[in-house]
Amino acid sequence: MRFFRHATIFHGCAVGGGSITYACTLLAPPEKVWEAGSWTGLSDWKAEMPRYYEIAARMLGVTENRILGPADLLLKKAAEASGTGHTFYCTKVGIFQAAEGELGGQTYPDPFFAGDGPERTTCVACGGCMMGCRHGAKNTLDLNYLYHAEKHGALIFPERRVVNVKPLNGSSDGSAGYEVSTVKSTAWIRRQPQRFTCRGVVFSASSLGTMELLFHLKEEGSLPAISGQIGKQVRTNSESLIGARVPGCSEDLSQGIAIGSGIYIDEHTHIEAVRYPGGSDAMSFLTTILTDGRPGSPRIALWLKNALGSLLRHPFQTLRLYRPWGWAREAVILLCMQALDGQIEMCWQRPWFWPFRKSLVSRGEKMPTYIPQANEFAKKFAQVAGGTAMSTLPEILFDVPGTAHCIGGCVVADSPAHGVVDAHHRVFHYKNMYICDGSVVAANLGVNPSLTITALAERAMSFIPPAAETEWNDAAESAMIGKP
Ligand SMILES: Cc1cc2nc3c(=O)[nH]c(=O)nc-3n(C[C@H](O)[C@H](O)[C@H](O)COP(=O)(O)OP(=O)(O)OC[C@H]3O[C@@H](n4cnc5c(N)ncnc54)[C@H](O)[C@@H]3O)c2cc1C
Ligand code: SF4
Repeated sequence: MRFFRHATIFHGCAVGGGSITYACTLLAPPEKVWEAGSWTGLSDWKAEMPRYYEIAARMLGVTENRILGPADLLLKKAAEASGTGHTFYCTKVGIFQAAEGELGGQTYPDPFFAGDGPERTTCVACGGCMMGCRHGAKNTLDLNYLYHAEKHGALIFPERRVVNVKPLNGSSDGSAGYEVSTVKSTAWIRRQPQRFTCRGVVFSASSLGTMELLFHLKEEGSLPAISGQIGKQVRTNSESLIGARVPGCSEDLSQGIAIGSGIYIDEHTHIEAVRYPGGSDAMSFLTTILTDGRPGSPRIALWLKNALGSLLRHPFQTLRLYRPWGWAREAVILLCMQALDGQIEMCWQRPWFWPFRKSLVSRGEKMPTYIPQANEFAKKFAQVAGGTAMSTLPEILFDVPGTAHCIGGCVVADSPAHGVVDAHHRVFHYKNMYICDGSVVAANLGVNPSLTITALAERAMSFIPPAAETEWNDAAESAMIGKP
């Protein structure tokens, strides 16, 4: 978790990136996302992207979730009670599920790549996807892209943090290649520096990681010509986390996959039922009684009023809401995402609380932590489930929304005046340098972003010629409008 003034950002940190701890909900966004943001008009996205979504879906093994746990059935019931039952859907996920009538937990030879991949075990519906799948059922990148890359000769260096990338042999645009310096990411002292030289570089350190690295490299003078647009157009899917807890629930709400189903409560607002595996009760310290918001009124005052009122009216029920034990079995988190555009900016500054070195600092208009429609739905959900609706504590105490979907910051654009990469993901002003991660996404997707990030990376790679044919002279072009 990284804490900023405008958002608390959750992100993955492992070989396989976010895929190791993500919920593997893999959804394509509505077509309208290609008509918003700085990538508009740079390519015929609507015609081109379906092909790359298909490749991405095949590589990530996307299939419809067939494991509906008690939390999903409650979501369906609550949606029906609030008149949106027709929008209920089972999520598309990257999980190896047992065939109809078969038990989970069975191991099979590779089912995804015609036997060319690793053997896999079917999902046991433990709800633990966001803790990292211990069963080998979730299609994490180490079981698909990275597995095949290694098989084809790629070397993976775990626990290596990239700290510098600079052009070789004094060529300012990288045409002679790059030197990449790394240190051991888990060491505080004796950091075991290691250097690599290469003809081309693909940054894929995530929205936060790539922004951080590029800001640093621009300022240190290693890559001074990177566009000044780093950190601009950072988006967070306008999210709010609410939920409900059903103390003494007869069913185990942690059963199922992490995100098994979703609904649309209106054109812009999408809600998914999320769970953690049994025993993940420390999460209870992040949840509290549901609290609305009012313009100009701090939510903290309302929260104290609600908590006190509830304690006086229903002391037993209220105390059970705060009991950590059994939280994961009794709670459902509702992840609300809105496709409405809202942006913040990340800057490279000395934060007031740690002025000794520069780091990412967020700027811009505050993002709402209170989405009224979402709170109303949480109340309906709690009513249907026979429980109590919940908000997340950091959203109330610090008025800062939480998000697992930070995107943008090095967006695709027509020129360095508006973004950091061109429509082929080539970094402006450098040769054979690319960015393939969430930082290039130039619009609010309104759905979980991984499938789009993968599809965009597939598209970017489709422009790279085979090694034997490349002239190592690939440079970004401004205003690629009309080009394929
Ligand atoms: C709890 C949780 C649940 C989520 N659930 C979903 C979901 O269900 N569906 C979905 O679509 N998305 C989900 N997401 C979001 C998803 O994980 C991210 O959007 C996605 O992984 C971003 O991909 P990326 O390629 O941009 O970067 P990442 O997958 O984050 O990979 C970047 C990698 O680079 C590494 N790195 C960073 N800096 C450096 C450096 N300097 N040197 C070397 N390595 C570096 C990081 O450690 C990380 O391993 C979830 C996220 C979280 C945290
Ligand atoms: S529910 Fe459990 S077994 Fe299934 S993919 Fe998630 S973590 Fe793995």
